[in-house]
Amino acid sequence: PKYVYDFAEGGRDMADLLGGKGANLAEMAGMGLPVPPGFTVTTDACRVFLATGEPPPELEGQVAEHLAALERAAGRRLGQVDDPLLLSVRSGARFSMPGMMETILDIGLNDLSVLGLGRTPDRERFAWDSYRRLVQMFGSTVMGVPSARFEAVLAGIKKQHRAADDTRLDTCDLIRLVETYQDLILEETGQEFPQDPAEQLQRAVLAVFTSWNGERARIYRRREHIPDDLGTAVNIQTMVFGNLGPDSGSGVAFTRDPATGQPGVYGDYLQNAQGEDVVAGIRNTVPLQQLENLDPASFVRLRDCVQRLEAHYRDLCDIEFTIERGTLWMLQTRVGKRTPQAAFAIAGQLADEGLISPEEALARVGGHGLARLMFPRFDTSGTREVLARGIPASPGAAVGAAVFDSAEAVRRSAAGEKVVLVRQETTPDDLPGMIAAEAVLTSRGGKTSHAAVVARGMGKVCVCGAEGIAVDPDGRLFSTPAATVREGTVISVDGSEGLVFQGAMPLADSPVMRYFEEGGQPPADSAPQVVRDVHRLMGEADSARRMEVRANADTPEDAARARRFGAQGIGLCRTEHMFLGDRRPLVEAMILARDDTERESALNALLPLQRQDFIGILEAMDGLPVTIRLLDPPLHEFLPDLTELSVRAARRDALGQQPEPREAELLAAVARMHEENPMLGLRGVRLGLVVPGLVAMQVRAVAEAVVARKRAGGDPRAEIMVPLVGAVEELRLVREEVARVLKRVSAGSGIAVDCPVGTMIELPRAALTADRIAQDADFFSFGTNDLTQTTWGFSRDDVEAAFFSAYLDKGVFPTSPFETIDREGVGRLVRIAVAEGRAARPELKIGVCGEHGGDPDSVRFFHDAGLDYVSCSPFRVPVARLEAGRAAL
Ligand code: PEP
Ligand code: MG
Repeated sequence: PKYVYDFAEGGRDMADLLGGKGANLAEMAGMGLPVPPGFTVTTDACRVFLATGEPPPELEGQVAEHLAALERAAGRRLGQVDDPLLLSVRSGARFSMPGMMETILDIGLNDLSVLGLGRTPDRERFAWDSYRRLVQMFGSTVMGVPSARFEAVLAGIKKQHRAADDTRLDTCDLIRLVETYQDLILEETGQEFPQDPAEQLQRAVLAVFTSWNGERARIYRRREHIPDDLGTAVNIQTMVFGNLGPDSGSGVAFTRDPATGQPGVYGDYLQNAQGEDVVAGIRNTVPLQQLENLDPASFVRLRDCVQRLEAHYRDLCDIEFTIERGTLWMLQTRVGKRTPQAAFAIAGQLADEGLISPEEALARVGGHGLARLMFPRFDTSGTREVLARGIPASPGAAVGAAVFDSAEAVRRSAAGEKVVLVRQETTPDDLPGMIAAEAVLTSRGGKTSHAAVVARGMGKVCVCGAEGIAVDPDGRLFSTPAATVREGTVISVDGSEGLVFQGAMPLADSPVMRYFEEGGQPPADSAPQVVRDVHRLMGEADSARRMEVRANADTPEDAARARRFGAQGIGLCRTEHMFLGDRRPLVEAMILARDDTERESALNALLPLQRQDFIGILEAMDGLPVTIRLLDPPLHEFLPDLTELSVRAARRDALGQQPEPREAELLAAVARMHEENPMLGLRGVRLGLVVPGLVAMQVRAVAEAVVARKRAGGDPRAEIMVPLVGAVEELRLVREEVARVLKRVSAGSGIAVDCPVGTMIELPRAALTADRIAQDADFFSFGTNDLTQTTWGFSRDDVEAAFFSAYLDKGVFPTSPFETIDREGVGRLVRIAVAEGRAARPELKIGVCGEHGGDPDSVRFFHDAGLDYVSCSPFRVPVARLEAGRAAL
């Protein structure tokens, strides 16, 4: 098998095999852009290595062949003593995992070739700087010496020389540094730093393979739902140098602003530096625009490449480049990550420019991003002291206690505290803390620093490069000229504006939320750009989608909001919410009734209240369907807590007695192990069949509300839904009762009331007997919360806290099946029920009203499964509309 591809042999559609970076390097080479020559070792080779612990036997030979070709073309050999060819070895998986795996630069340098590289006096310092980078990277990545050991040595030398950054160290310092590093390696590992370039290359490739299973890579994949078995490709490329003097440098460019979507060339540039220095945020970069003054010719060439890339990829691209003595080299490109705001803006602009179709524009935005745009922002109308200013790297508003290292962030957040991780700069080791934190604040680095890139990818608020703050991790504080902020102090971080405030700032609505609250009317030209972008793509989604979107709402206020948000009806009105609060005594009276008379009078007291509720909801949803579900939860939910009661009784019994030995321990253990009844008892339709008069009262309240609304000139469209049905017989019995009550109300009022009666499908048995159930149901609505609970045998009330994090860690599932529908299991039941239900009754209307109805990935599944509508909480209605539109493309 072929395990190595020259850049000339690949292309962007080969990312599975060559990884994203390798495929895009090949694509750029194919476009004729200036890419340093090289080749890619495939993910296949990595998978063999991960499975067997050995690289495939063919690999060494194939790498040697490609290396020989590279050497022939370059006219020099790897590590050649007088003029060495040097290589970079970089990871590159199918999906971008920024900074999570290893990179080794300057392969080919050794004690001799360093002299060849530094053969002229002007290159001497550069050569030794490159060599010390290699020894450091190789020592930590390949040979396993903790990188902190190298950093301590470096910091020591810098301190001796009072050097603020690495550029202040002279050749002698660097030579000493290399020697010290080599001694350190020998001391730590018992092995010499390898002098043989071929050995360096081979070991570097294996180290990249191995880093696929490094801890931070695994954490990142779990979070981003990237499968563990893909493996990484390895890119081996001729080194180019951005650190050859002031006419050299490295940078990152975006074809548009990844924060706002504004067109133009954006990015950061660092003179006389390698790419790693830019991303690490070790020195502060300058805005890319300044390259125009520093090196106008390279700037023009770069702008040209950037424009060609955007036109070619028809999307925002991000680019890493290096300028070596006035020659531009493209080191990487990919379709870039962006904020949700930018995603909407770019999709709209590219459609305007005719680069993509309106449908493709819709495909490029998503429900998760829209949900983020609906988040609140800080209310800055009051006067507030700005504590610090930095670069707005990832938008949003977050409040939390300042913490100064990853472990503390994890510790406090596990205890339920919201935290902001404050660092000089972040490294991949900070990843757990970044995940735990609400926001990340750094004092160094630009929009493309590690902190910024990772936070944006996670949707986490980030302000970076806040130079006005001095971070002192050892003292666990940061200071500004005006204030000192110690660990635990609450601060507010505005990632949209790049501002940091002391204390907890009040939050204000987002303009996008306001737009939906105001009914999604066409925005004025003066409206914020993001609102206009959202409006346009919502229109696109609404015209594309086949499914309707309804809302789960139990009050007139929620119903009205849902309508403003674009809901086309109510898919689930949970009537139990009307049994709570000050009505509880009435419900208690109904449950505790000793005879029919007592029960009847309790039900009679509830009737007018329920009727009034339904009138309000039907009015708010006039002309649209309102699915009213009969009472579902078990009755004990409406009674005082059993434990409290038993404690009270026990205390009375035990009066005067000594507690048993170890009683407290026992109680604590019992409390810990206690599991709730997972809602599988007397509830749903069972309740209706067992508590006399309950169904009749609820249906009468619905019917009389319909009458009242019709008399008022309205257009009420109530539907009655029966929960937790497992057998058609249950449904049939309830239907008979419903029919009786409707008839009675119609006769009594002289107004015909005819409500469709349907059922929830939330038990496997219901799904498996859907053909029979459909004979007595006007509609189905999947209750995927209960269907998930009963299919998996997971109690929906207590398993998530009990063991879901372990299941997520072990990869049993990538997300909670209560959040995103389990397509294989629960989804299979859904498909069976749809097919059988429709076979029995072709006009059967089918929807879903579990939480999954507002989850972007699940909405797509329901579209594919042929549902007529999804129903979700009012705030998720816009998300569901957008996703239903995207699913229909
Ligand atoms: C469901 O089970 O999915 C459902 C919508 O009903 P509830 O959550 O009220 O049980
Ligand atoms: Mg349910």
